[in-house]
This record gives sequence, structure tokens and C-alpha cells, in this order.
Amino acid sequence: VTRFAPSPTGYLHLGHIANAVWTWGLAQAAGGRVLLRIEDHDRGRCRPEFERAILDDLDWLGLTPDPESRLSLEARPSPYRQSDNGALYGDTLRLLRARVQIFACRCSRKEIAARLAEDGLADWDELRYPGSCRSLGLTEGPGSGIRMMVEEETVEFTDLRLGAQRQRPALQCGDLLLRDTTGSWTYQFCVTVDDWRSGVNLVIRGEDLLPSTGRQLLLGRRLGRATPPAFLHHPLIRAPGGGKLSKRDGATGVRELRAAGRRPEDVLGQAAYLTGLLPEPRPVAAAELGSLFG
Ligand code: GLU
Repeated sequence: VTRFAPSPTGYLHLGHIANAVWTWGLAQAAGGRVLLRIEDHDRGRCRPEFERAILDDLDWLGLTPDPESRLSLEARPSPYRQSDNGALYGDTLRLLRARVQIFACRCSRKEIAARLAEDGLADWDELRYPGSCRSLGLTEGPGSGIRMMVEEETVEFTDLRLGAQRQRPALQCGDLLLRDTTGSWTYQFCVTVDDWRSGVNLVIRGEDLLPSTGRQLLLGRRLGRATPPAFLHHPLIRAPGGGKLSKRDGATGVRELRAAGRRPEDVLGQAAYLTGLLPEPRPVAAAELGSLFG
């Protein structure tokens, strides 16, 4: 059981399609199922028209999610959406409180960056939370976020493509933000809860998310998930300048490719080629994606 989990903060572009090619392809090759999950946890950035466009583009590409599992928690006449899951996240947080130390935090990203700069740690890869509110005993409420204390620990796992990995979440991100100061549940929290509750046992996503895996495994363990999912991080498609492909790279948007007369199999084949699954571009229909992994 794997999943395709787009955020409706923009239209689908070739980067998403690369992820879809790996996800549906591996699922087909293994006789697995693909759940569709709309990751709209960040209430400020998501828009319903993006969700509609994503569903329409997937349909056009012939990428069909598993019809039953997409509503695996309860029957709903719409895709599995994180914004419908507030009660589940609230219950899960209650469960977590009994197992780990949770604390309120009022720090903004700007304050965290300033504190890191003061401590000479500003060049750290990520914005590592320096523990400012850890022992302040702040009350939870509007304007405060919620963090889980993360102690120093090495998390080991084997990526199905990249091999053995060792990560130290306490040094990478520090105490994990579960809910932000605006009241939105965070990506790390939602993804870990959803993957667990939907029975996802293989997570397929781009290499940019590799650093998130250790902390998601750690959180899953604290939640009591007995068997963690397997992980496969695939290559990313690079933008023309070599950087990460973004929604601003209009020429790679599925909408634009459709408007330019490209066929679904051309778009899928292009994404497969650009992530190393084909030696040169050729059309690949959605139903043939499994053959790329034979
Ligand atoms: N929603 C994330 C994205 O659009 C994917 C998260 C994941 O696969 O864990 O990049």
C-alpha cells in the first residue's frame, strides 16, 4: 500500500508526475495499491481550485487511485483530505501526550533563525529548533505552537534505492513541531499519522524529503506504530538551471503541457526519462508504468 500525496498549493508539474510514475509504477509491478491523499494541512496556502485541477490532471493522465482505500478511514464522497482529519489529529495528539513530553512554543521561524545566528549555528542545513520554550511551561492556546521533545538518538533505516541511512533528528530539526502557531497541523505530524492510519507500508517520494524520514520514523515509533513503512526516495527532476523544479517553472506544468497538445503517455514517458527510468524519452501509458520496474 503506497500513496500519492499532493499538496493543493499549486498545479501539478513534471516533478509531481515523476513521483506519480514511480508510485503507480512500483505499485503496479508489485500488485499494490495507490491511495490518493490531498495534503491540505497548511490552511493558509491551499485552494480548492488547485485540488480540482489535481484530480482532473490525474484523471487525464489515467492515474487512478485505489477506489476503496482512498477513503480508508470512513466513507466520504471525496478524496482523503487532511483538512477533514482534525479530530483524528487531535485524538492522536492526546495519545502522544501520555507517551512523550509535549510543550507549547511561541517561537516564530524568524525568532528561531535569530537565535541560531546568535549561537553561531545559522549555517545549519535546516532551521533547527534551539529549545527556547522547552522548559518555560507556557500554556497552550491561540498563538502558540505545539512541539514534541526529541532527545538525541540515531534513527537507522534502509532506503530501497539509496541503501542504509542514519539520521539524527535532534540535530537536524530539534523538538518536532506538531501544530504551528496559526493552529495548522504540520506536514511531519499529518503524514506520519495518515501513513500509519491508512496502512501505508511503502512511502515513495522524492529525495528532497529524505531528511524528513528519520523524524517520521521516530514519531511513528512514539505513536506506537509497530511496523514502520518501507521508504524509497527517487531522483528529482532538476529545473533548467540545475535547481529544484518549482511551480514557477511554467513550461513543466501539466496544464501547459496539455494545452500544448502533449498526450498523457508523452508526459508520463518524459517524467520517467527525466528521473532515470528510461534511457531516452518515449511514450508510456499509465497502464504500462509497471513495466519500467520489471
Ligand atoms: N505533500 C508532499 C508534497 O507535495 C508530499 C509528502 C510526502 O510524500 O511525504 O511534496
